[in-house]
Amino acid sequence: MNSPKVIDESVEFKIPRALQQFNPQNPKHKFKCTCCGKGFSVQKGNFQKSNSPLFQSNDGFLPWCKECTDKYVNILTAFYSGNEEHAIGHFCQQADWVYELEVLKMAKEISGDRSRISHYAAKKNLNVDGRKTYCDSIKYNYKLNQYNIIQSKEQVKSENYSVSGAAVDRWGVGFTEIDYKNLDDHYRMLKNNNPNCDSNQEIFIKSLCNLNMLMVRALKDGDSDKYVKLSEQYSKTFTKAGLKTVEEKDSSNDETFCMTLGFISEYTPEEFYKDKKLYEDWDNIGEYIDRHITRPMINLETGSDIRDKEFYVPNEDEYEDE
Ligand SMILES: [Zn+2]
Repeated sequence: MNSPKVIDESVEFKIPRALQQFNPQNPKHKFKCTCCGKGFSVQKGNFQKSNSPLFQSNDGFLPWCKECTDKYVNILTAFYSGNEEHAIGHFCQQADWVYELEVLKMAKEISGDRSRISHYAAKKNLNVDGRKTYCDSIKYNYKLNQYNIIQSKEQVKSENYSVSGAAVDRWGVGFTEIDYKNLDDHYRMLKNNNPNCDSNQEIFIKSLCNLNMLMVRALKDGDSDKYVKLSEQYSKTFTKAGLKTVEEKDSSNDETFCMTLGFISEYTPEEFYKDKKLYEDWDNIGEYIDRHITRPMINLETGSDIRDKEFYVPNEDEYEDE
């Protein structure tokens, strides 16, 4: 199932049309195969079913006949250089059938003259815990993957994990996908609340993330003793590190003006900020910028000689006027 896909580029997807085509005049021809064009009197037995909503108004039947399924999967098998499992996987995605290893095995064990895909079709909804569609299989595998322990950075890249290489670098290997998610979420939260932490605090933050992960695990296992111990350790470490939780109080006096504006923007867009007076230009920084930054810049760029209204050396003729 996980072996690499080897494609035979020379394979062409061609299925001939049936000699006897669907004929609307023929009372026995009620259903038409969209592939070979043959006419059928009933769907059952001639067409396979799917739980995809895409076929719901066709009574859940695939629009191509069983014979065409066999032919198509044969071509797919050749396309995947003889690998029947990849061929069936491909077909399951198209027909929205479950794609499960156990069913594949079962379909292989049965001998006989029927094609493997027809065995697969017959067995596919057995022992798969009610999973019915390809998407159900994807969901199931996704959940399973979350509990797989990640052993290397390469594994993250090669097998569809939602863990980043950076997370593996930060936390090391040996965790599950869910662990990395817990670690990263907690890390982000602590870093957001403590944007200026030093490298000492960074070490504490990391160990707090590890403690938090263990707390989540203890909770899940229903181990309250362990949880309480870990919480105590967490709060000790937190205090020792001198970190902050989210504070409700106005700390704008301790921070630069731009930081304060940044915090306001995060929660309340500036134009709706109620206490406008608080941010009035008390120390005339606007005027300072106009006089000592904007004005010289204009002179520099355009060659003009606009002077400061207060500090300037008067022209000679202005002396004469006096
Ligand atoms: Zn057909």
